[in-house]
Amino acid sequence: MNKQLTPENATVGYIGLGIMGLPAARNLLKAKYKVHAWARREESLAPFVKDGGEVADDPAALAQVCDAVICNVSDTPDVEQVLLGGGGVRGVIDGCKQGALIIDMSTISPEATKQMSQKFAAKGAMMLDAPVSGGEKGAIDGTLTFMVGGETEAFARAMPLFQAMGKTITHIGASGAGQTAKACNQIIIGATISGVAEAFRLARASGVDLAKVREALLGGFANSKVLEIHGKRIIDNDYAPGFKAKLHEKDIRVALSAAATSGVKLPSAELFASRLQKLLARGNGDQDSAAAATVLDEE
Ligand code: NAP
Repeated sequence: MNKQLTPENATVGYIGLGIMGLPAARNLLKAKYKVHAWARREESLAPFVKDGGEVADDPAALAQVCDAVICNVSDTPDVEQVLLGGGGVRGVIDGCKQGALIIDMSTISPEATKQMSQKFAAKGAMMLDAPVSGGEKGAIDGTLTFMVGGETEAFARAMPLFQAMGKTITHIGASGAGQTAKACNQIIIGATISGVAEAFRLARASGVDLAKVREALLGGFANSKVLEIHGKRIIDNDYAPGFKAKLHEKDIRVALSAAATSGVKLPSAELFASRLQKLLARGNGDQDSAAAATVLDEE
């Protein structure tokens, strides 16, 4: 039960072969894990199969042949569907083995996470919330940051899997704590995008070269990944994702809902959410969330 899940003893299931999931699953294959996947669309599976992955018929069938099942889908209802079943899909819970480990890398509600974790515990399985930061590049390079919630024993068993996909791996606390840490991460990134966009707005209005401002500030205290990466996207007016605005809006909603439950206010997160919602209303939800700068420019 306490054994670490290594390529020698574990078969891994993967659900959610998107921007983040496909490269993460490829890194598991590279680490010599046997990896099976399920996807609702054939096209999502093709590059994974080409790299040596195997395919299951549905999440329940996937769980039947796996020691650990990882999911990396979009939102809370999606995780609930693939893990618990619904909408004509048999969930992971319908097939999971005694002692199986369920790892959710999606960014979703901490509250829903706790409830799912209890359902898996009742089945003799353990669930970890393991949302990530680091973006598509971190997923490709295998340098993701994992924020993990759940039992210490499950965290220890999962460590070799995390190490195959990431670099900074922190056990934050009990079930849901990883998702709370991720909500904190998204608040900081959102506020920083707003800060960079405001700074560039001033520079532009003052007739100052944005690229030079960015270059200078990257060498000082205002340096950040957001200034580096999102700042470049704002200057280039290139909002190919990256991280889709509709997903960032979902994450800020998760943060605001958790804040409401805890009785605290998050004013800058509320402001950033309203900018993203305007962007989504324009039909630009698939743009990178740095495109919130284009909304701010109209305020
Ligand atoms: P994505 O490219 O849209 O991929 C999502 C994947 O999940 C797709 O393959 C999609 O399948 C699948 N999926 C979604 N709902 C499903 C459902 N109900 N049943 C079956 N499959 C479903 O998104 P992503 O950027 O990889 O993000 C995945 C998760 O990681 C999200 O929670 C996101 O917030 C989080 N995240 C993303 C980033 C980033 O930079 N992109 C960084 C950190 C965390 P289809 O192909 O059929 O649509």
